[in-house]
Amino acid sequence: MSAVTRAHEPWDLSRDPPHRPRDSGKFPRDARRGLRHNLAMPAEIIDGTAIAEEVHRETAARVTALKARGIQPAVTFVRVGEDPASRAYVSRKHKKAEELGIRSDTIVLDEKTPEAELLALIARLNADPAIHGILIQAPLPSHIREQTVFATVAPHKDVDGFHPVNVGKLLLGDDSGFRPCTPAGVHHLMIRSGVETRGAEVAIVGRGNIVGKPMAAILLQKAPHCDATITLLHSRSRDIPAHTRRADILIAALGKAHFVTADMVKPGACVIDVGVNRVADPASPRGYRLTGDVDFEKVRAVAGKITPNPGGVGPMTIAMLMANTARAAAMAHP
Ligand code: NAP
Repeated sequence: MSAVTRAHEPWDLSRDPPHRPRDSGKFPRDARRGLRHNLAMPAEIIDGTAIAEEVHRETAARVTALKARGIQPAVTFVRVGEDPASRAYVSRKHKKAEELGIRSDTIVLDEKTPEAELLALIARLNADPAIHGILIQAPLPSHIREQTVFATVAPHKDVDGFHPVNVGKLLLGDDSGFRPCTPAGVHHLMIRSGVETRGAEVAIVGRGNIVGKPMAAILLQKAPHCDATITLLHSRSRDIPAHTRRADILIAALGKAHFVTADMVKPGACVIDVGVNRVADPASPRGYRLTGDVDFEKVRAVAGKITPNPGGVGPMTIAMLMANTARAAAMAHP
């Protein structure tokens, strides 16, 4: 095993993280004390910004070690069309990669680019040994088949974790693949904030391929920081609150603003809010603001731990993408 993979890695769950990150100081003091939860107090905040910074520091150290061996980690982002959210996401990822010393290129294709042209571009990136990670930003225009595109990225460069080989490895508990960044980030939030998953009842609302399904696959593994009992809920589920009220850990990943209300939460539970929703806000210059799937203020009064949104899961998604990229570079040069 190389020096690069011997240190603690965000994907190595066999050991505890080196230390718990200091919080960023952004949240009220009573919610940051880290005391055993007292139900008279509001929930402890899981500070995703601080935890993501900790992961970034580990990734930056890994990048430095790779560079010392003459390896320049590199990722290429491909965006098709000018969807404003995709533009913002890719530019944020590009900026963070550069900050960490990862070479980052963005290729922008016209909205009308034929699928075959995109697949040919991916084949060229797959064949380029100087590129370790490839990310095709979703959503893609409707004439392009997303699954075909994801399956064309070489599995060893699939830092988004969407290739069927990586999805299969995740389900099988084979750690040699890449995990999708958002559920992997949620898992690290839980590990690094001391949330016990072993034997815990976990309710996940949303069975999407990007969050809900891989989240379930991670937490049900027979492995450290996993071993949970999972209930995966969706739009056809009957009586969702009856399930969520049993949950020690409730993960909302459905994309419906403030769907999770206080009466759906077991007192003292850990609540993770993955959703990103636009709600009208005349006071904002953009006319809208982003909010999560959880009614944060009210749920905070019932929960034991809770992620803010923004400032919870979002920063972790980028942190795991960067960690996956450094790992892809390390795997390419064992
Ligand atoms: P998705 O593929 O559209 O899946 C949504 C899931 O929610 C589906 O399984 C759907 O059920 C379920 N659902 C919808 N309405 C429901 C309802 N009323 N009751 C119960 N279940 C319902 O979405 P996704 O890609 O997994 O993303 C989920 C959310 O996470 C979105 O808000 C997305 O923006 C956010 N997200 C955030 C990040 C981040 O970095 N913070 C990253 C990725 C995604 P059916 O299967 O029955 O249709």
